[in-house]
Amino acid sequence: MDLKDYIRDVADFPKPGILFRDISPLLADAGAWRATIERLADVVGPHKPAILAGIESRGFLVTAPLALHMGCGFMMVRKRGKLPGRTIPHTYALEYGEDTIEIQDNAVKPGTRVVVLDDVLATGGTLNAAISLLGKAGADVRAACCIIELTFLEGRKRLPVPFESLVRY
Ligand code: AMP
Repeated sequence: MDLKDYIRDVADFPKPGILFRDISPLLADAGAWRATIERLADVVGPHKPAILAGIESRGFLVTAPLALHMGCGFMMVRKRGKLPGRTIPHTYALEYGEDTIEIQDNAVKPGTRVVVLDDVLATGGTLNAAISLLGKAGADVRAACCIIELTFLEGRKRLPVPFESLVRY
């Protein structure tokens, strides 16, 4: 099965010049989605994570079913102000301005093996920030993984951990 058959290209979304890679058809097809989760398990498994961290919001769609499938715990990396209780924040630079992501302060014990996931790797800024945040919390981040990698942006070069992807453009 070629997963690219289930990824829709949307030109000029969310702004002019961006070719958006839409995973909605993949989510809509039970067989293709099962194959995606099984292939993710194959590439993430060797890193032996105890917890999978998903990045808001499409990263949640990828990571929660994968964690269940692999027998791992799941934790959320969210935008500022969404998580209840005490949180650990991390602010990072964007092309214009900055953004802040957070995890709950009890989400991961120091030394826990974590793999962090999102749907798409573009510049790598988001995953890099999530890895820094998890590191701040004492997690042992073993790898990062996405369904889709936009290789021409060379995002994986920004990441301080091994990176896995299933589909490359
Ligand atoms: P980046 O931080 O540049 O690696 O961007 C990654 C984040 O933006 C991910 O959460 C993706 O969901 C989203 N993203 C960036 N570029 C695209 C794209 N061309 N198609 C779909 N999602 C994208």
